[in-house]
Amino acid sequence: MKAHIVGGGFGGLAAAVHLIRNAGVSGEDITIYEANERLGGAFSLGGSAQSGYILPTSSIFDAQFRCTFDLLETIPSATDPALSVKDEFFAFNARHPYHDRAHIIDRSGHIVHGAHFGLSVRDRLDLVRLVLTPEAMLDGRRIEEFFSPHFFSTEFWLLWATTMGSLPQHSAMELRRYMNRFLYLFPDLSDMSHVLRTPLNQYQAFIEPMVVWLRPRGVHFLTSAFVLDMGFAPSPGRITVNRLDCERDGAVTSIAVAPEDLVLVTLGSQADDLSVGSMNEAPRPRRNGQSWALWKRLAQGRTVFGNPDVFFGAARVPDSHWVTFTVTTTGTQFLDRMCALTGSEPGSGGLVTLKDSGWLLSLSIFHQPEIIGQPRGTSIWWGYGLYPERKGDFVPKRMDQCTGAEILEEVLRQLRFDGQLDAIMASSICVPCDLPYANNIWVKRSRTDRPRPVPEGASNLGLIGQYVEVPRDIAFTIEYSARAAWEAIHLLLKRGPPPPPVYQGLYDPKALFAALKVFAGTR
Ligand SMILES: Cc1cc2nc3c(=O)[nH]c(=O)nc-3n(C[C@H](O)[C@H](O)[C@H](O)COP(=O)(O)OP(=O)(O)OC[C@H]3O[C@@H](n4cnc5c(N)ncnc54)[C@H](O)[C@@H]3O)c2cc1C
Repeated sequence: MKAHIVGGGFGGLAAAVHLIRNAGVSGEDITIYEANERLGGAFSLGGSAQSGYILPTSSIFDAQFRCTFDLLETIPSATDPALSVKDEFFAFNARHPYHDRAHIIDRSGHIVHGAHFGLSVRDRLDLVRLVLTPEAMLDGRRIEEFFSPHFFSTEFWLLWATTMGSLPQHSAMELRRYMNRFLYLFPDLSDMSHVLRTPLNQYQAFIEPMVVWLRPRGVHFLTSAFVLDMGFAPSPGRITVNRLDCERDGAVTSIAVAPEDLVLVTLGSQADDLSVGSMNEAPRPRRNGQSWALWKRLAQGRTVFGNPDVFFGAARVPDSHWVTFTVTTTGTQFLDRMCALTGSEPGSGGLVTLKDSGWLLSLSIFHQPEIIGQPRGTSIWWGYGLYPERKGDFVPKRMDQCTGAEILEEVLRQLRFDGQLDAIMASSICVPCDLPYANNIWVKRSRTDRPRPVPEGASNLGLIGQYVEVPRDIAFTIEYSARAAWEAIHLLLKRGPPPPPVYQGLYDPKALFAALKVFAGTR
């Protein structure tokens, strides 16, 4: 049996580890096809200390990433191979827990934090109503249909939206899932004390160690290999892949697939059409849709493959667009001022949201070093704008049209660091990263828009990644991709245990009690 995995992001790599470890497949029988030059998908690391590092994604995890940590328990860490990636992750978080004292800051530099997060009685009842509404009744419904305008002005919503990515026009179904999944975080939303992060950037913390584990086991990695299409055996009612068409170095090769082989396809990427700018150049928008092209082809005339147009395409961009930016600095002024403002040392402060900024900026000051090989005296911090199509307040341009220097200037002026502006600008390189689909897993959807990990009738085809339907779980996470891969492999090969159940706060008495205190307004 051969296994063909389309997509070399976290999900594809997780599938390969799972096949070897849980399903007894030989690494030499596994091939991973990745369209990009490098493995890792959205979890990438680019640039350098000289040109400015590029880290497109954030670092928000929790202890209930059950499939992920099951997998990472097997993988030795990059910095200390005596430890697993999982053990290193938890040890780091125990040593350096988040204690965010200044999650939301207003334009005057004041910390915003009030009683029960500003929720009115009606807001709290509306939240309960949404959580208790069955998912079957939430097809195509938006969050804003369930709440009054007041709810969207509360501290609760601001914390939620900037930590998780939700907007009022997004999916009520996904918010309901989030509420259930993260119910236990409610009381500590503002200090982020149960939120975990990687000891290093996610590429070096997760992706590289997985590749290092897979490579000596004989897994074939084909990078710059784009799977254009696949063929199916002519059998009515059955979906049996018999061919993959792969484009590499300008040539298209057809790969024969036997009925007993396995094909696992990643259906899309939140990092699709990612483009990077520089200190002096805004990112140039890219719109070629490579990561979902195969899904679009598969879905043509076949309803079991769902509806990719719900998540991708020009019409989706306004509801899913983010601009993130990474700042590499050799000065200390920025970090010193931030520590003074927030009362937190680098790495312990979580997110800092500048609530009055037009782009709705959030910043994260990493524990240093964030990157293996980062030179001494160099620090790295990160930020993103939830509304990159709006104009800045000091730089009157859309964020997605700004250079790194313009973004950095807007941040510094928002923070009222005008006195240090020249020094910080001179010692920093800010690299913006345009992500038109970063937030598309939140867009309003129906239950059939995402196909199942094994579509009806499929005998050797599994679908993985963030655009398949995995009941109860939330898609803006690597956990979702790890779970989808495990589920598809389990259903197709029937080897090993099924994935563990998704954590549900509603069935956790401690979480429920703590959340009820927030709802009841006693906290
Ligand atoms: C800004 C941002 C912040 C994030 N923050 C977090 C976070 O804090 N915590 C968290 O858990 N998750 C976070 N995520 C989500 C995380 O990045 C994803 O969960 C993870 O990358 C999903 O892995 P994947 O393999 O399913 O998809 P991806 O990582 O997107 O990889 C999919 C890969 O498949 C390839 N591919 C697709 N089609 C083909 C084809 N036909 N041929 C060949 N290759 C193909 C693509 O090129 C891509 O490399 C964030 C994402 C973004 C964008």
